[in-house]
Amino acid sequence: MSEIEVLSRAGGKLTITCAFCKGTGKDPFELLSKLSNCQVCGGRGKFSLAEPAIECAFCGGTGIHRDQRLTCTVCGGKGMVTVEKSTQTCPDCGGRGVAEGGYLPCVTCGGTGVVAKKAAAQKAKTGKKAKKR
Ligand SMILES: [Zn+2]
Ligand SMILES: [Zn+2]
Ligand SMILES: [Zn+2]
Repeated sequence: MSEIEVLSRAGGKLTITCAFCKGTGKDPFELLSKLSNCQVCGGRGKFSLAEPAIECAFCGGTGIHRDQRLTCTVCGGKGMVTVEKSTQTCPDCGGRGVAEGGYLPCVTCGGTGVVAKKAAAQKAKTGKKAKKR
């Protein structure tokens, strides 16, 4: 389950709580010391991210590398990643962001679980019209 909280959304920027430390600004695993700052956000507990951003599929928005006490290599521990404006579910991993074997990020989508529509359109053309607001 994701621990990310969207704090604000303005001007194409998203401010979210740091997934790795859950916004505390402290190292969640206390690897160095109880008082050490979170290595991901540098102790700030939050991030700004360019939109559109989605929850990182590889770590499920936790910011933590699968089964390890390391930061997720896909989102860098943020729990969210900025993606292309127009995306679709990665055909290779089905949106899970995980390559076969369950350990490494999917090479096709880089672990985000989505691919840019353009790239996917080369593989299979859909006749759907993009919705505009
Ligand atoms: Zn943090
Ligand atoms: Zn991640
Ligand atoms: Zn994929």
